[in-house]
Amino acid sequence: MLPTYISGDGAVTEGNRGESVDPSASGCKLEWTRVLNHLKAEVGETAYRNWLQPMCLERCDDGHAIVTAPTRFLRDWVETHYADRLLALWRTENRQVSRVSVVVAMLPGYNGVDYSAGRGPNGGSCDADSVLSEPPLVAEIVEDKAQLSALDHRFTFENFVVGKPNELAHAAARRVAEACTNPVHTVPFNPLFLYGGVGLGKTHLMHAVAWHVRRHARDRKVIYLSAEKFMYQFIRALRFKSTMDFKEQFRSVDLLMIDDVQFISGKDSTQEEFFHTFNALVDQNRQIVISADKSPSDLEGLEERMRSRLGWGLVADLHPTTYELRLGILESKVEQSDIQIPRKVMEFLAHKITSNVRELEGALNRIIADMQLIGREVTLESAQELLRDLLRFCERRVTIDEIQRRVAEHFNIRLSEMTSERRARAVARPRQVAMYLAKQLTTRSLPEIGKKFGGRDHTTVMHAVRKIEELMLTDAALAEDVELLRRMLQS
Ligand code: ADP
Ligand code: MG
Repeated sequence: MLPTYISGDGAVTEGNRGESVDPSASGCKLEWTRVLNHLKAEVGETAYRNWLQPMCLERCDDGHAIVTAPTRFLRDWVETHYADRLLALWRTENRQVSRVSVVVAMLPGYNGVDYSAGRGPNGGSCDADSVLSEPPLVAEIVEDKAQLSALDHRFTFENFVVGKPNELAHAAARRVAEACTNPVHTVPFNPLFLYGGVGLGKTHLMHAVAWHVRRHARDRKVIYLSAEKFMYQFIRALRFKSTMDFKEQFRSVDLLMIDDVQFISGKDSTQEEFFHTFNALVDQNRQIVISADKSPSDLEGLEERMRSRLGWGLVADLHPTTYELRLGILESKVEQSDIQIPRKVMEFLAHKITSNVRELEGALNRIIADMQLIGREVTLESAQELLRDLLRFCERRVTIDEIQRRVAEHFNIRLSEMTSERRARAVARPRQVAMYLAKQLTTRSLPEIGKKFGGRDHTTVMHAVRKIEELMLTDAALAEDVELLRRMLQS
């Protein structure tokens, strides 16, 4: 059976292209719509919109109803706060239902849905593996309706707050979206390669492009999927000997977007296929958008020709957020949620939760939920209390990996130079800066630091630390670089 989607507002879409619908499945859909309506009446419009609307019915089997949540946070929330009500209400609709599971929709092969966006730091999707249905063929992925349900309705350009750290990526994504909907189809840069750390808005921008095209040029064929899913589909096609179909599906699109390509690296045959698909599309002047957590040159396990091809178009990075951007995002979210939150609380959040936008949203959602469920006013004190665990996590010390990444970025060298043998000044100096910062900002010992820098000796690290200390006294530009990096790493 194919997955079925029902969006929270009761609109029904199906993963199935055919006319006939499994009668028990449609019964299940009806029940789910009713359950949702009841819950909505119980919890109120806003809580409903925040927590329940994003849920989708996955399926109903032998009295076991499975609904999906787009993120782990939502899954946990719905499970702790609404699971009992969900089951109770469902049982008033259908006595045979004895269990309701909430799972995170993030499996490869899951019909056109990529919710990796919502994956928390630990990933993981409870018992989804055992409950999700037979994966669909590629055909369903590009099927219109299934595609739509794959896109998060909140991830639009309108909802994207632009600031210094993301303005280039945003402008580039917009350019692509507009070019794609222009009657005279042009391809401004191919591919558009978006990269940046987790939770900084890559998936959001890709979905925004898809929504824009969808809204302004319905006839354009758009595929958005995660690299993991691309791989999965490909392997599946190999197994079912339908690789021809697979190729055709991908090669007939106007816009292909593949999210998180770092997951493709290493798998040879998939890389090969990806490369061919990629080339075929570029040759036909079709737009490609790619995202990854690193720049093309820093992606590991990627063939050289692939690496260089990926860097051909425009490479735009999303920098870590600034205080101003974080505050702007909070303001925009609060505005949308028709809830009053004191400015002090928002400033506190923007100040403290610096890791990424996803964590920031999580914190805000926790505060909103608390207000709605417990019905108390939010104050600076109550916010601090509520977020104590989260804040402790955010105040963790910087890691050497982070230092290396930031320093490499700052000096515009490859991350791999941090561990390489090369002694050229252009790479040796930044490496020394990174070692110096590692000594200053972490509690690691000199030998531990040496190990992280390609197995160097502790004396090398010591030398680096002294050298930078010395240079900072005489070289104002370097001193400034180091200060800037230190502040950025500690913010
Ligand atoms: P990534 O794909 O880079 O890991 P996402 O695109 O999934 O990150 O973003 C994580 C969350 O943060 C999403 O809910 C997204 O809507 C939100 N977000 C990120 N950047 C912005 C922004 N500039 N404005 C509004 N929301 C944002
Ligand atoms: Mg993402």
